[in-house]
Amino acid sequence: MDYSIARRRMVAQHVVARGITDKKIISVMEEVPRHLFVEEALQGQAYTDYALPIGEKQTISQPFIVAAMTEALTLQQDDRVLEVGTGSGYQAAILSRLVSHVFSVERIVSLARRARRILDSIHYSNVHIHVSDGSNGWAEQAPFDAIIVTAGAPEVPQNYLDQLTIGGRLVIPVGNGNSQVLKRIIRTADQTFSEEDLLDCRFVPLIGEHGWSEKGC
Ligand code: SAM
Repeated sequence: MDYSIARRRMVAQHVVARGITDKKIISVMEEVPRHLFVEEALQGQAYTDYALPIGEKQTISQPFIVAAMTEALTLQQDDRVLEVGTGSGYQAAILSRLVSHVFSVERIVSLARRARRILDSIHYSNVHIHVSDGSNGWAEQAPFDAIIVTAGAPEVPQNYLDQLTIGGRLVIPVGNGNSQVLKRIIRTADQTFSEEDLLDCRFVPLIGEHGWSEKGC
């Protein structure tokens, strides 16, 4: 089935109409085949503006949130980007069309393998996926020009701040288990950071040493 018309409609209604203006992000979202990142039975819903289940009680984020978080990262083509929470691989796929290297960490092995398979099938080869507790960041690959966290954290883990370049941007949902505020933090100098609240959001929890415990938020 050809989903390109549905994809363009999704971008017009849920991305552009809601205020996303970055032309590169708009064109990448018109290009990346989101339906491949959800299971076959849900492919008909892939171009609605909803988060959808991807197994293991996790979700692929809604298109508007993917676009808004990506825009907040203010990416340059040669940036190295860390994503925490690979999930389906869709956000990583969007990032991979905008920058040279995407480093993505996922704690659930089956999701990391599934994302790898999908990304390989469409030859998106500049996404490096690592299975581990992403609440620690990815020290071996740091520093990063941008870090995007796609799970809700109780507070901002210090590791993320330490792993940013000067000028680096961190976009992260912070709050409780039911709702969070999407924050953008910029490392303006070695020990100086600016912080702003972007919008209210609702993510599954960041589970790990510097996130929530597995028992609950
Ligand atoms: N970015 C994903 C996408 O495009 O499909 C959506 C991510 S989903 C909302 C959140 C993901 O974060 C889940 O796959 C979950 O397993 C993962 N996660 C939660 N805590 C984590 C941690 N400490 N390290 C790595 N991944 C984590």
